Amino acid sequence: MRGLTGRRAIVTGGASGIGKAISVRLAEEGCHVGIFDLNVDAAREVSGLACQVDVTDYGSVQAGVARFEAESGPCDILVNCAGWDSPRLFLETSPGDWEKIIAINLRGPLNLQHAVCPGMAARRRGRVVNIASDAGRVGAGLTAVYSAAKGGLIAFTKSLARELATSGVTVNAVAPGPTRTPLLDASFGDDGARWLSSVEKAIPMKRLGEPEDVAGMVAFLASDDAAYITGQVISVSGGLTMAG
Ligand code: NAD
Repeated sequence: MRGLTGRRAIVTGGASGIGKAISVRLAEEGCHVGIFDLNVDAAREVSGLACQVDVTDYGSVQAGVARFEAESGPCDILVNCAGWDSPRLFLETSPGDWEKIIAINLRGPLNLQHAVCPGMAARRRGRVVNIASDAGRVGAGLTAVYSAAKGGLIAFTKSLARELATSGVTVNAVAPGPTRTPLLDASFGDDGARWLSSVEKAIPMKRLGEPEDVAGMVAFLASDDAAYITGQVISVSGGLTMAG
């Protein structure tokens, strides 16, 4: 892909699953990758530059960005991939549950974009890719608050894309469908195998996504080939969601 060699990329949630595959792919394309994750030991196994950052904490994010830019140089690419959910019926959740889900999936990406985008705009070059979810486009059972947070992230992506459109910074979202990761495995407990097999039957391509399926789209959106694409939401879901 064009224009990725030597670029500096921050990937949140890069210690596991989809974020790990994105970090590996961007490194293969020649990027200097810094991983911001709570699990710094796992992050270190993926990338040379691993920062222990809690994306929900603005101070922690600012300190991580300052360290990354001091060690690697200005950030060219930001991928917001850290995410979390614990699927339950909405009527059985509490306000405390909502706070955690919204903090990680929506406020986290806001913190990162607020810390990184001013520098990108000043340098007149930047790529932001927000990892949303098809749940944020069409809703999903047992994940009402998570879907709301991801839907909020999609609306934010489009709005910031408009705000930064003339500054050389693009902002796009990738919406994975069900993808084989530790988060998916943890989400459905004992019922998981039965649920996953019914989901596989509903996917036109008849298989779950793999983290690497998402990584290619992120690398494309981060590259020079995607210079004229902003404010878009791309589903990577084997055809499960065909949104207009
Ligand atoms: P995962 O659990 O394998 O990885 C998530 C990573 O985020 C972990 O390394 C975790 O330590 C990190 N993280 C969590 N909270 C954090 C915080 N507060 N600060 C910093 N790091 C934190 O999950 P995954 O399945 O790879 O999910 C990656 C992204 O893709 C998430 O945004 C998720 O919502 C989204 N997604 C996943 C699926 C799926 O089926 N797996 C589907 C749609 C969207």
